Amino acid sequence: MSTPQPRATIADIPPYVAGRPPTVRPGMTSYKLSSNENPYPPLPGVVEAVQAAVGQMNRYPDMGASALYAALADSLDVPVEDLSVATGSVGLIYQLVQAFCDPGDEVVFAWRSFEAYPIAVTAAGAASVRVPVLPDGRHDLDAMAAAITDRTRIVLVCTPNNPTGPAVTQAELDAFLARVPSHVVVVVDEAYVEFVRMDDPVDGLASYRSRANVVLTRTFSKAYGLAGFRVGYAVAPAPIAAALRAVSLPFGVSTVAQVAAIASLERQPELLERVDALVAERTRVVDGLRAAGWDVPDAQGNFVWFGLGERTADFAQAADELGIVVRPFAGEGARVSIGETEANDRLLQLAASFPR
Ligand SMILES: *Cc1c(COP(=O)(O)O)cnc(C)c1O
Repeated sequence: MSTPQPRATIADIPPYVAGRPPTVRPGMTSYKLSSNENPYPPLPGVVEAVQAAVGQMNRYPDMGASALYAALADSLDVPVEDLSVATGSVGLIYQLVQAFCDPGDEVVFAWRSFEAYPIAVTAAGAASVRVPVLPDGRHDLDAMAAAITDRTRIVLVCTPNNPTGPAVTQAELDAFLARVPSHVVVVVDEAYVEFVRMDDPVDGLASYRSRANVVLTRTFSKAYGLAGFRVGYAVAPAPIAAALRAVSLPFGVSTVAQVAAIASLERQPELLERVDALVAERTRVVDGLRAAGWDVPDAQGNFVWFGLGERTADFAQAADELGIVVRPFAGEGARVSIGETEANDRLLQLAASFPR
């Protein structure tokens, strides 16, 4: 008897491996450093705003998310028509592929990079073209430009790159954009933009303003600490933003998520102070690791990459025993989020005892 069959490509979708919660160990606080979450609790006022909105759960959210669009347009100084809000920037990646790719069309991205990319691409029946990152974890933008073919519809530039850490410079991005055909969408995934501290950082808004094919994706999940609420946005030239809104999940962004995002935007200065504190911790961790002989790539996000190869599982196990959970990528390396001071201390402790 025949049974319903999903499209053939569905079987090819790689699984999303989520960061594990910490192992509970009696007498020891365990820390989750496996999902690049913000270790700070929500800012004062955000929870209260959300609590006030909870009573409306019998109603659908504002489908147009109009207050959130207005707040973003004001904060970024862009027209509302150039925005698309979504259920996290993962939602936007899905929408981009759905809106721009027919089956068999190609999406070029660095690898290893954000693991949701090949999932979204395959789910839409498009083809992933993975361009290996350089040995220091940076994007090989020359090779990515060379990988563009007649079938390429989208190129994803993840900066800072999750999981390796480095970010591209504006000069590198400009040189790259000059080589990309104008009909190819260039997505600059800025999930960690608030954490970047480097010379010649990418000015995503300037890049989007100067080109008709540049899309920025940003999220409230990382710096803003709203990962559990699923809200992100794209900034794009109006025709692209309209296409993203057209394929968006109706009522996807919940009322509480909209309210939390607006309340967080209103408290941007306090949030950015917390980001500064996390960046200071990142500097302390990276300096400590290098002093201990570890050759870690430049870390521009809220995480550090250990290119451990075959020793990755052992490292993850040793971390677990110290009460920190990291994100291992089997046979490649481990990504460790910057977390609470105590958690970061334990990472340094692990790095001092684990063979380089
Ligand atoms: C975390 C992350 C995102 C965003 O995730 P959402 O929670 O869906 O907004 C997007 N891109 C990269 C590279 C990330 O690491």
